[in-house]
Amino acid sequence: MPGNSPQPSALTFQPVLERIATEVAQTPGRGRPADYIPALAACDPRRFGMAVAELDGTVYGVGDWRQPFSTQSVTKVFTLALDLAREGDALWEHVGREPSGNPFNSLVQLEYENGIPRNPFINAGALVVTDRLQTRTGDAAGTLLEFLRAESGNAHLDFDRDIAASETANGDRNAALAHFMASYGNIDNPVPVLLDQYFLQCSIAASCADLALATGFLARHGIRADGSRLLSRSQAKQINAIMLTCGTYDAAGDFAYRVGLPGKSGVGGGIIAVVPGRCTLCVWSPGLDERGNSVAGVAALDRFTTLTGLSVF
Ligand code: GLN
Repeated sequence: MPGNSPQPSALTFQPVLERIATEVAQTPGRGRPADYIPALAACDPRRFGMAVAELDGTVYGVGDWRQPFSTQSVTKVFTLALDLAREGDALWEHVGREPSGNPFNSLVQLEYENGIPRNPFINAGALVVTDRLQTRTGDAAGTLLEFLRAESGNAHLDFDRDIAASETANGDRNAALAHFMASYGNIDNPVPVLLDQYFLQCSIAASCADLALATGFLARHGIRADGSRLLSRSQAKQINAIMLTCGTYDAAGDFAYRVGLPGKSGVGGGIIAVVPGRCTLCVWSPGLDERGNSVAGVAALDRFTTLTGLSVF
């Protein structure tokens, strides 16, 4: 019912989610879980969950929507918001806002561009954001965890220290990115401190329900779950724009074409998405395509916007 049909009322989200789950279950080919972080490799690619949260915190879900998974790069949206709220536009002297067209962990552009990463959602850019949040708060990962707990209403959210340790033991590429940027003076904290914070940040386990709720401030134009303001309306728009253009790495063009929403993926298989002024979504399925985005997750969001007509376009 895309096109000129009326947008569904909230009550129609549940049947739409059920239909998507049925379709996804019948779709062969789920991709492969990330194996460069050994603790993620054991995930079953047939797992699938999806949640939609309304602006008032009402949540609808299907499948494994209450199952915690490794949030990974989905957290980059929240650290960006927390830093932007503190630092404002000065952040943009340290990280850009252009799509990279390169994989999320790529090193190649950094030397040409003098240690300034293309955007806050590739690993290099996220390291800069976490470094700046660490300088401002003294505890970037803890600040993030408290924020996610508050916005999701789930006080049990926590770090998964096995995942963090697994990444630390296999973190040469992120260490290389951080050291390289430090050589340009674009990292404040000692690199080992920054990497600990970054890997803890990525290790947070949360469910589709938790993340759909925690993303709500971006659909509410900067307003937190308790009604207080985190970001100006303009800053919320800016983050949504960067999600649309950079949130799924070198597949952002294809994601915008298929889904038509600001979104952010992680190699744990989660993707969050925002319908500004209306609702937020989170989908999880651990099988990834070669660009590191959940195969079933992108397919499910594609179906959601096609079936409901809810899109920014
Ligand atoms: N922790 C992962 C890394 O730094 C996050 C990457 C991702 O989710 N795309 O490699």
